[in-house]
Amino acid sequence: MNWKRNGIKTMTIKGNPESILAELKRLNRFLISVHVSPDGDALGSQLALMLALKKLHKSVELYNNDPVPEIYRFLPHADEIRIGSSLPETYDAYIVLDSDPSRTGFFQNSFPVGTLINIDHHITNEGVWPYTWLDPSASATGELIYRLILLLGVPIDREIALCLYTSIFTDTGSFRYTNTTPESMRIAATLLEYGVDPWLVTEQVYESFAFQRVQLLGHVLANIQRNPNGTIAWVVVTDDLYRKTGTTAQDTDNFVNFVRSVHGVEVAVLFRQTGDTQYKISLRSKGRIDLSGLAQLLGGGGHKNAAGATLNGLFEDVRDSVLVKLEHIVSLQLQKPAV
Ligand code: AMP
Ligand code: MN
Ligand code: MN
Repeated sequence: MNWKRNGIKTMTIKGNPESILAELKRLNRFLISVHVSPDGDALGSQLALMLALKKLHKSVELYNNDPVPEIYRFLPHADEIRIGSSLPETYDAYIVLDSDPSRTGFFQNSFPVGTLINIDHHITNEGVWPYTWLDPSASATGELIYRLILLLGVPIDREIALCLYTSIFTDTGSFRYTNTTPESMRIAATLLEYGVDPWLVTEQVYESFAFQRVQLLGHVLANIQRNPNGTIAWVVVTDDLYRKTGTTAQDTDNFVNFVRSVHGVEVAVLFRQTGDTQYKISLRSKGRIDLSGLAQLLGGGGHKNAAGATLNGLFEDVRDSVLVKLEHIVSLQLQKPAV
């Protein structure tokens, strides 16, 4: 089903796992990619699907645009993920997980010849590939991969369980966000029964930060700003700050959540410098404001409460244009009675 929200086309469930299942069984050589700056859901889904397909004696390669962040290197077989800016070979099937194909960094302008499979839960995914399964009601792409693996008839083992648990754990913000459902809890519970140690995942993802990262966080939060009525707050990470603290973009993961945690803040923004005149924005809301439409309008995408985009321009111009648009949607959406 399609509908329009803020003038932007969005979708609910599109496609189904059954048609994808037939292709996974029929073909032999697979490539799996995920979005740039991969997160726990992307990597957990990618590794779990590789492990399941290998149990069916398929050849599977993992290829991403960006390296695995330090905090996700504990995932089994993470060292098998190859990194590059163009695909080295041809495959029977190309699988993109947790992303629309263009956000992998590989499939912007042309699509490869082969079976094209896209499995995702982002509401802003346009679903352009022939074998697409989109379910925005899933808390994580890992939930969809869990369902696919059951349908494939592959027995889940501890490694697959650890990957899928990490997917759901990270995309639900440790089972705290509004995307947490009875189903995501049930799947996570089943995964624990396969021997996943929840503290191991927590420690790796949230309690193994480099000292410099915490110093960077200190600098960033010392300069938090907010609008006059306190509904929008933001922070900035510049190249200069990375240099000063010896950190990289990877170290800013989740910084935006501290900004959202302020009383009265409805929307938090992290502006992160990605080039001389380029900024990646991370948007987070407490639930009353839907950010996915704005992110899509800015050329990015995401979910209702978590979205992002990359913008070009001088910092002051980028900041002001984002804040003006945010002021508009916050005042508009806060007037609406809750549904
Ligand atoms: P981030 O702020 O990068 O953590 O992203 C928040 C959410 O929005 C995640 O689910 C991302 O996958 C999604 N997202 C971020 N940037 C983009 C983009 N340029 N296009 C589509 N989705 C995005
Ligand atoms: Mn992701
Ligand atoms: Mn995800």
